[in-house]
Amino acid sequence: MVITNWAGNVTFSARRLHRPASVAEVRELVADADNFRVLGSGHSFNPIADTTGDLISLADLPPVISISSDSETVTVSAGLRYGEVVPRLHAAGYALHNLGSLPHISIAGACATGTHGSGVANGTLASAVVALDLVTADGGLRTITRDDELFPAGVVSLGALGVVTSLTLALRPTFDMAQYVYDDLPYAAALDEFDAIMSSAYSVSLFTDWAGPHFNQVWVKQLASAPAPPKHWHGATLADAPRHPVPGMSAESCTPQLGEPGPWHARLPHFKLEFTPSSGEELQSEYFVPRDQAILGLAALHRLRDRIAPVLQISEIRTIAADDLWLSPSYGRDTVAFHFTWVKDTEAVLPVLREIEAALAPFDARPHWGKLFTMPPEVVATRYGRLADFAALTTRLDPNAKLQNPFLTPHLHP
Ligand SMILES: Cc1cc2nc3c(=O)[nH]c(=O)nc-3n(C[C@H](O)[C@H](O)[C@H](O)COP(=O)(O)OP(=O)(O)OC[C@H]3O[C@@H](n4cnc5c(N)ncnc54)[C@H](O)[C@@H]3O)c2cc1C
Repeated sequence: MVITNWAGNVTFSARRLHRPASVAEVRELVADADNFRVLGSGHSFNPIADTTGDLISLADLPPVISISSDSETVTVSAGLRYGEVVPRLHAAGYALHNLGSLPHISIAGACATGTHGSGVANGTLASAVVALDLVTADGGLRTITRDDELFPAGVVSLGALGVVTSLTLALRPTFDMAQYVYDDLPYAAALDEFDAIMSSAYSVSLFTDWAGPHFNQVWVKQLASAPAPPKHWHGATLADAPRHPVPGMSAESCTPQLGEPGPWHARLPHFKLEFTPSSGEELQSEYFVPRDQAILGLAALHRLRDRIAPVLQISEIRTIAADDLWLSPSYGRDTVAFHFTWVKDTEAVLPVLREIEAALAPFDARPHWGKLFTMPPEVVATRYGRLADFAALTTRLDPNAKLQNPFLTPHLHP
């Protein structure tokens, strides 16, 4: 049996794949295992979810979606994907604060790697978590709430503390949004007016192929009640037809644009659940720097554009609000995220990653836990300042290192 990640660039080395149908079964599996990991929807681009032992998928757990209007929260079983939950929330009058670019990913897997969307006031998706149930390596079950000492480590956990079997997420009243795309934002305007552009709506993304003098597109996701935006803005022009962020691809797979109002869950992601997201044939990397260093970071990338452009499909620039989750990419700092969707050619991409990492080093860049990077673990440890505390916790909760794998161990014990 060959199991790969979504991108097909990682073949898992697990001896067995389990699909437990109950939490009791998860506990039994874990208690008996020597080495195990949980697999979410497999959308990470590196072997973070790999194990040589037992790989556990939670996709067959009963699909619980339990909304509490008293606490304005929803409790979901951890194997569910955002796309399976969000229409139910909207129908009940609720929303999550943000979503990633795609609804295809599992909620637990997304939170475990610090997955994020965009918006200067929007934290990572994990920042919506208020509680979770964790099956620890000995088969024990504990509920971790915000006042638990484990909470800041246990949400963006890289899957290293145990199996998250359910998550409780904060809700807010549902809202409608409208999405507009601008073409050809001059590079100079993006630098000069970066804060104004990124703060101009609920969620703003810049896309560039680093090939020309422009950011190819600006995606503006605003509240439906906000006034329609002007035709010309910071030198960019409102698109007259729907766009796909990757040049040459059909916009059929993208969420509605041109200002058509619709619920938050059908506008915040770029891609629709029923289609292949992004280009489908790709690798991805992403680096996070403090938002007040965004312009210097962009200038550093601009100097590398002749190296980046030949192996790139598209780059996306987003913002994330600070949070206090230890391994979050935006732990302790408002953040700008520099994302790269690469051609699917690892050998060609890795040397460019090294150059990008060197260029972004002065800005204390953190790598995305679920994407490709080449930064040595001892450098990663300086960027994620709570990694040593986190490692101590993994030793305490998992003394037999059942959850360790060749991706994690060097990062936790560099
Ligand atoms: C097309 C595409 C678009 C993307 N867009 C974005 C984006 O907009 N923003 C962004 O930040 N990232 C993005 N990503 C990256 C993606 O969100 C992360 O890789 C995320 O981890 C994927 O979730 P998953 O369920 O597939 O996790 P997996 O890759 O399956 O697992 C990731 C980690 O989570 C752990 N894990 C999973 N489930 C559990 C559980 N129940 N308990 C404990 N640990 C668990 C695994 O052990 C592993 O360590 C994108 C990826 C793709 C392929």
